[in-house]
Amino acid sequence: MMKKYITYLLLFGFPLFGCQSKVAENSTYQQNWMQLEKENKALAFDADIQLSESEITLDKKLFQIRKDFLANTEKQKISLYNSSFDQLKPLIEGSTLFEILQLMPKGGLLHTHSGGITDAKWVIATARKYKECYVYDQADTKDFIFGQLGFFEEGKVPRGFVSLNKKLSSQPGFEKQLTELLLLKRESLCTYSDYWIEFEKRFTRISLLLPYRPFFKEYYKKGFEDLVENKVQHVEIRYVFDELYDFKHGKYPLETSVTDLQDVVKEIQKQHPEFSLKLIYSSFKFLDPKSIEKQLEIAFKLKKEFPNVISGFDLVADEAAGNSIYSFREDWAKLDELSKKYGVKMPLFLHAGESVSVFNKNIIDISSLDNPRIGHGLNLIYFPKTMELIRKQNKLVEVSPISNQVLGYVSDLRNHPARILLSNGVQCSINSDDPSVYGYNGLGYDFWVAFVYWELDVKALKKLVFNSIHYSSLNENEKKQSLVYLNKEWDGFVQKMNGKLK
Ligand SMILES: [Zn+2]
Repeated sequence: MMKKYITYLLLFGFPLFGCQSKVAENSTYQQNWMQLEKENKALAFDADIQLSESEITLDKKLFQIRKDFLANTEKQKISLYNSSFDQLKPLIEGSTLFEILQLMPKGGLLHTHSGGITDAKWVIATARKYKECYVYDQADTKDFIFGQLGFFEEGKVPRGFVSLNKKLSSQPGFEKQLTELLLLKRESLCTYSDYWIEFEKRFTRISLLLPYRPFFKEYYKKGFEDLVENKVQHVEIRYVFDELYDFKHGKYPLETSVTDLQDVVKEIQKQHPEFSLKLIYSSFKFLDPKSIEKQLEIAFKLKKEFPNVISGFDLVADEAAGNSIYSFREDWAKLDELSKKYGVKMPLFLHAGESVSVFNKNIIDISSLDNPRIGHGLNLIYFPKTMELIRKQNKLVEVSPISNQVLGYVSDLRNHPARILLSNGVQCSINSDDPSVYGYNGLGYDFWVAFVYWELDVKALKKLVFNSIHYSSLNENEKKQSLVYLNKEWDGFVQKMNGKLK
């Protein structure tokens, strides 16, 4: 310490001691400082949360656990801030914090996608049980890609596909290879990857798998069970509708997807009556306005039939490659007319600003549309007027920190834009986006990342958790019930943790 001080003296000369102490004693200065600190805090997204005595106790414990964890990684010289999620996953899983966050009630998962929910290893293990399941084991063509899975009737198997079970049994290394082909990893922060091309290949590989009705039901049952186990009580899926089929009946109407999912939910509810599901009808940004007009008609028809399941509409896929939200303005202009025609409202839940570029202006549209929740909103911070409007309009940003890192939008998670949103009073919730593609399930990992890298406290955690129900598409009555359950679970969690943690 002394050596360091002498070095500074040599470099900068003697400090003006008198002047320093005068500033420190200046009470107006101190008062201003205190006042400003208070005013800054009052602007934060969680300013309205008052913690109970036991929540304050838990907060102190969690603060200390994180402090110890960080000190430990420092001691071991672990590069916490320059490592990717995949590199840190074992460390996260072995941490006390993760154990705690796994047990934390998480409310709802508001942002996830059909095809991105259920564990990839489970997908392979379950698909191979069907003798009609095949895998494409040739080089990519324009029709199929290596590792693509599908169900086919005997005698109708396209060239290049082989029995999945036979392939897995005869080639021991193939299971690992196929698992890797279904996962997207950012091996290290400096490895080059064409993220979206690779990302979309993961969905292509299972695209023929999911509409097969018997597998479809199993897939969502497993996905929901995993969520429930992870203390997620509500889920909203950006759902891309596809006609289900089986070999006895051929194709089923779109409605069958909804009624089948309702049946799956009912089954889950036998054990977990609190569990609920909403679907957000999703189409693609790479389509043209005419096609989206047709998609909107289908969405309205479905919502009229299932007003309690279908909640709204979204356009997904890579924003950099797709059309802007503004280019669909004629479609949005027809929403009111369609609402009158079908007697239901169709709020938008658009992905907007999943980008770090100021040339992507999708976020600007949000404040002018009936769009209560925004997918990602990463570049919202570069549009201050819009950020202000979204805060005032009380719209929520669905944040998916791990997804953002895997897809290359953020590297050091301390610099995630959501921190700026939170401190500026923009409401957010924590989401996993496509956990099966990123190699995990549940919301524990995303909460871990947010808690550690964004230096959150229990107040912030609580607000994020409760936001996921407050801003959900549940109707007023459903919301009330869901909140009763969440409150009870939350209090139980706080109590249990206080008893367990030193
Ligand atoms: Zn998404």
